[in-house]
Amino acid sequence: MKTLLLLCLTISTWPVLANHAANYFESIKQDPVKLRQFLQQFPKGGDLHNHLSGAIYAESYLEWASADGKCIDLSTYIITPPPCEGTKPLRQLMADTSTEPLEPVIDAMSTRNYERRGVSGHDQFFATFNRFRSAATGRFGDMVAEARQRAGRQNMVYLELMLSLGMLEVTQLAAESGNLDAPYGERIDHTKVDTIVETVIEHFDAIEKRQSELLGCTADADTQPTGCDVTVRYQAQVLRTFAPIQVYAQTLLAVKLMQADPRVVALNFVAPEDHRIALRDYHQHMQFVAELSAAFPSQPAGITLHAGELTMGLVPPEDLGWHIRDAIETAGATRIGHGIDIAYDDNMDALLNSMAEQDILVEINLTSNDVILGIKDADHPLPTYLEYGVPVTLSTDDEGVSRIDLTHEYQRATTTYDLSYLQLRYFARNSLQYSFLSGAPLFKDTADGSAITACATDDLGAVAPSSNCAEFLAQSPKARLQWELERRLSAFEASF
Ligand SMILES: [Zn+2]
Repeated sequence: MKTLLLLCLTISTWPVLANHAANYFESIKQDPVKLRQFLQQFPKGGDLHNHLSGAIYAESYLEWASADGKCIDLSTYIITPPPCEGTKPLRQLMADTSTEPLEPVIDAMSTRNYERRGVSGHDQFFATFNRFRSAATGRFGDMVAEARQRAGRQNMVYLELMLSLGMLEVTQLAAESGNLDAPYGERIDHTKVDTIVETVIEHFDAIEKRQSELLGCTADADTQPTGCDVTVRYQAQVLRTFAPIQVYAQTLLAVKLMQADPRVVALNFVAPEDHRIALRDYHQHMQFVAELSAAFPSQPAGITLHAGELTMGLVPPEDLGWHIRDAIETAGATRIGHGIDIAYDDNMDALLNSMAEQDILVEINLTSNDVILGIKDADHPLPTYLEYGVPVTLSTDDEGVSRIDLTHEYQRATTTYDLSYLQLRYFARNSLQYSFLSGAPLFKDTADGSAITACATDDLGAVAPSSNCAEFLAQSPKARLQWELERRLSAFEASF
């Protein structure tokens, strides 16, 4: 039904301002310069699939590591903490650009120019994280500030950032004293996990304080520097290439964090899905998520999982075509990251219909899929998801490593799939509708733009909503941010 609406809505049924924007969009779609400008200004809502460490550009990591007295191994391009024994002080390297240019370092810390270097996009991509890991230490506040500022410049209002705070600590605890065969509650010392939870919350407090100071955010909404009006929430990312008890412990920590801190709205599983351990234990991991989220029924279940980020050749065929289904049916995921291998499912038609029926959103990462998996253009399942009415939105995955931004992904989607303005607006609306922000969503249906009953007759985004709608908005942080997106969309469309 949704598909039908999306495909059949004609320009003549839209409000006249959207009509002007859509006409202009069609007239400049083939002009990359004007299209970039249009999409940069276009209110895009949020980015729901964004790994904080991968969102940072190498240039920033190098600046921070240099200021922090860190070092670099010039044979591996791995940044290390001081002292610089057998390695080069970054401060020295940064000052001496004439003899040791930073270009190869930046290439090594990203997928820039990877085609020239005889390494696969997959291997280059995953190799970067180890190179800049040490540069990120102590700089998480700076990293959030960078992500937020970049989002603000692109007329975005929301980021869901993934990070693994406390995960290595709980992994260590699990290795020392965990026992997966023990009954629930005794597999790992919950008191010790709770102590890690407290430390992580303190870390979040420090991150929030630092990023706000860096951005210069004030209480006055009218004079806020760029980025201060971007709402940030976090996903706890479980590293899935560890032993089962260690993945279990991380999942427990993620669930406890969601329960303890409203800034942590979801859990996610990360690290290469094609990794030997990730493949071997995939179903067991889904069972961990199911068991642990059932153990904490009172908390909002923000479960989004990287699933189906696989393709023929990368892994044996037996590993293809069931991860998406398992993430939804076993783990209870309400969002899927990537969803590339859907074509290999035993009954794709039924799965897609059920995803549309259950409103399971797919976070689409076009550039990432191209570089890591070699999946692009007609090989990408985005058009199939659209055809079946499965909700989708565009996201960046790792904008720093991939040297992109969200506008770039909107542009890539537009030119590759000849999308309409209406479809882009649908993506933007979905990015908030399906976010894990608390509260009820504004839309009954983002495909046709119909709002829930309380706001059904309102001009969306209006300064003075009706009393019923105002009452609804007052109770829902999610709907309030959606209202702000609608205000921006109205203003944007009125400019044509
Ligand atoms: Zn990802």
